[in-house]
Amino acid sequence: MDEARALLETVWGFPEFRPGQAEIVEAVAAGRDTLAIMPTGGGKSLCFQLPALMRPGVTLVVSPLIALMRDQVRGLQAAGVAAAALTSGNTEEETRAAWDGLAEGRLKLLYMAPERLASGGIARTLAQAGVSLIAVDEAHCVSQWGHDFRPDYLRIGELRRALDVPLAAFTATADAETRAEIATRLFGGAAPLTFLRGFDRPNIHLAFASKDGPRRQILTFAAARGGQAGIVYCGTRAKTESLAAALVQEGHAACAYHGGMEAEARRAVEARFGQEDGLIVCATVAFGMGVDKPDIRWVAHADLPKSIEGYYQEIGRAGRDGAPAETLALYGPDDIRLRRSQIDEGLAPPERKDADHGRLNALLGLAEALGCRRQVLLGYFGEESAPCGNCDLCDRPPESYDATRQVRMALSAMLRTGERFGTGHLIDVLTGRATEKVRGHGHDDLPTFGVGRETGAREWQAIFRQMMGRDLARPDTERHGALRLTEPAVPVLKGEAEVRLRRDEAPLRDRPAVRAM
Ligand code: ADP
Ligand code: ZN
Repeated sequence: MDEARALLETVWGFPEFRPGQAEIVEAVAAGRDTLAIMPTGGGKSLCFQLPALMRPGVTLVVSPLIALMRDQVRGLQAAGVAAAALTSGNTEEETRAAWDGLAEGRLKLLYMAPERLASGGIARTLAQAGVSLIAVDEAHCVSQWGHDFRPDYLRIGELRRALDVPLAAFTATADAETRAEIATRLFGGAAPLTFLRGFDRPNIHLAFASKDGPRRQILTFAAARGGQAGIVYCGTRAKTESLAAALVQEGHAACAYHGGMEAEARRAVEARFGQEDGLIVCATVAFGMGVDKPDIRWVAHADLPKSIEGYYQEIGRAGRDGAPAETLALYGPDDIRLRRSQIDEGLAPPERKDADHGRLNALLGLAEALGCRRQVLLGYFGEESAPCGNCDLCDRPPESYDATRQVRMALSAMLRTGERFGTGHLIDVLTGRATEKVRGHGHDDLPTFGVGRETGAREWQAIFRQMMGRDLARPDTERHGALRLTEPAVPVLKGEAEVRLRRDEAPLRDRPAVRAM
């Protein structure tokens, strides 16, 4: 799986697998016959594309959707993967290039429309080309009872037998009946290894809070769960140590875990965590892969998680036994600044940086959500759901308000001060505090000076944090967190778009700890 992770990062630029992907990739790469049922948008294509790179020869992908095949081939080629498609949408040149690539053994993925399977001698051609895996997208098309039935899909089973290679089938919709049909028609009746799992983990309570004395927030959360096993994920190694020490001081059994520790010391923590009841491990994301403890009752994030995928994985370590588990993720403007600068200062090409900023925006959207948090989380993975009743926002629907006027004031203060100042100074200008710095820059003469007086400084903090979360203002890395306007801010400034923000929650009112069993 190390190879798979390396490819995920280098070829796709994704730091983490999405829920379900890792297991499926492992099975497909190992040559198991598999059937994976994942919601649309869940990331199915990666589950055959990545194993294709790990297997010898070429992977044949059968898909009924020509536009989608062409998109995928284009995406793969752009990432440096040798892929081609044989579809009716091809130019003659594309078709020739595909056959040449296949004959010369250069291709790793060959996409093919099902009609092609009807042409004579195709099995022999594919066998000679070294096809070592068949991937079938939209596998439910083999079902005669569904409305997507494709008669040519019935030839796939034959082809599998002729080539004698493993087959991986994917679909978003498969009731038990369709699944049985897929097993019969594609796998010749032998049951494939089946992955069917919604992404929801309904026993896990979700909560986010903005940082407001973060150490105290974590200690309060842990205190309410005394004696229960928990993990606190921290953004830095130093914080794992200092938080563990603070927890011990408050009478908890706690220890630190990070990649900088000796392998032996790390193993000792893992073993202790597995055996002891109620140990708290303060850890970096290095902790958890090998941890298989079913009764972890809570997971807290002392800093903003790295991505939605990472967040999902880390909270998913809680409550594997199905009993209630609690989570809390803290985030603040510093997290946002740090993450933006890590992306901006990284060595990735510009398109990848844009994609990384976009993924960070999605994570911040989850943090600043106005409706059910689980709906936002599952929606990101392509799964639709009703309000869950088991998240902080279902517990206490946040009050939102029309903040267009304040946001415009803030944006105009940023503009008029030359986009060269951070939140603190901007708030001084908006609330009319004639500090030395404000006077020094002549900002007390600006028309924006004092226009936001009726909104308190604390509320302004919340407004700026949410503006950063919505990507209406972006910290400028070269200027120590000076806020710059972004493209989405322009229509707001022009009065063409409205902004609703959350009234900031009262300081974390803790939920009573759950008692499992
Ligand atoms: P499906 O075929 O299941 O509908 P796709 O394979 O098209 O979904 O993937 C949906 C989206 O998820 C794509 O934009 C893809 O780039 C993205 N995606 C897939 N895997 C990951 C991952 N591990 N991390 C981040 N994004 C991912
Ligand atoms: Zn909810």
